[in-house]
Amino acid sequence: VSLADLLALAGDAATPRAPLGARTTSRVGGVARLLVEISSPAELARLAPALTGLEVPLLVVGLGSNLLVADGEYDGVVVALGAGFAELSWREDGDTIIVSAGAALALPVAARRLSDAGVVGFEWAVGIPGSFGGAVVMNAGGHGGQMADVVAAAEVFSFQTGTSRCRPASDLAFRYRASALTAHDLVTSVTLTLTRGDAEAAKVAVREIVAWRRTNQPGGANAGSVFMNPQTGSAGQLIEAAGLKGARVGGAHVSDKHANFILVDAGASAADVVALMVLVRDRVRTTSGVNLESELRLVGFAGQWP
Ligand SMILES: Cc1cc2nc3c(=O)[nH]c(=O)nc-3n(C[C@H](O)[C@H](O)[C@H](O)COP(=O)(O)OP(=O)(O)OC[C@H]3O[C@@H](n4cnc5c(N)ncnc54)[C@H](O)[C@@H]3O)c2cc1C
Repeated sequence: VSLADLLALAGDAATPRAPLGARTTSRVGGVARLLVEISSPAELARLAPALTGLEVPLLVVGLGSNLLVADGEYDGVVVALGAGFAELSWREDGDTIIVSAGAALALPVAARRLSDAGVVGFEWAVGIPGSFGGAVVMNAGGHGGQMADVVAAAEVFSFQTGTSRCRPASDLAFRYRASALTAHDLVTSVTLTLTRGDAEAAKVAVREIVAWRRTNQPGGANAGSVFMNPQTGSAGQLIEAAGLKGARVGGAHVSDKHANFILVDAGASAADVVALMVLVRDRVRTTSGVNLESELRLVGFAGQWP
């Protein structure tokens, strides 16, 4: 399928040269050659033929809280899901609660609504500012929980076949901050298995997690943890031990509060952020022998992230 066919079919849903960096929480990076916003499952069904087997690269963007996109133009199609993919519902099945969440829904919103209703087991997600789609792809986790522990299945549209299918957790190969889902997959909804429990206790847990994050993590423009923790130890401790707290390249610097966070000033470039990542990775390799790997999904950096 050609880009012209997609443009013709998508109409108002397609925006040429749309801001892309602005859709990420680091708020740096350039534009997308074409952005397609899919408002609802019906709209996905309508656009499916033009999104299948496209001749240019495709990138799905969720809430952009784990993405770093390069300056300049992303030479492909960026797909984003709209409000028709943000539903949350649940039903009882014996002792378990089967939850259905749209892929565009934010984890903190779901964590609060579920705990308020006494549906427990998802409180840990309140501090993770991603969407269900991005969280399944990344197997997001923290505070003792992770998506792998609660996801029963995901509904996934394939950009290769143009069809959707329900993929059970056993097919998603969850591991630390990764899954079997690739750039050819669009998660549209997620099914969780949770339990009925004490709403008051769940609400206390949510408040404690929010307070812990405020105390221990920096605010401002950032994308959360930049590097994955190595097999032993924590990336933040290695970066701090290398004396890199406060290290700066252009408008990007290593947080003084949490060394695995990079804070991005207004007016910084994506090149600043990735150059600082290279500096941190190389210095930690020299000081500790550990090869830190990016947790962020880097898009379009080619030679800048060798
Ligand atoms: C302040 C802060 C704190 C954070 N804390 C944590 C934490 O404690 N634990 C943790 O695990 N992460 C954390 N993160 C990282 C991030 O929130 C998670 O990785 C989150 O799951 C990403 O979701 P997203 O919607 O923002 O995805 P994006 O950043 O938009 O995308 C991430 C990846 O998922 C893909 N993707 C997104 N949506 C879809 C979809 N619908 N279908 C298919 N692919 C999709 C993208 O193509 C990309 O490869 C933090 C980030 C910030 C900014």
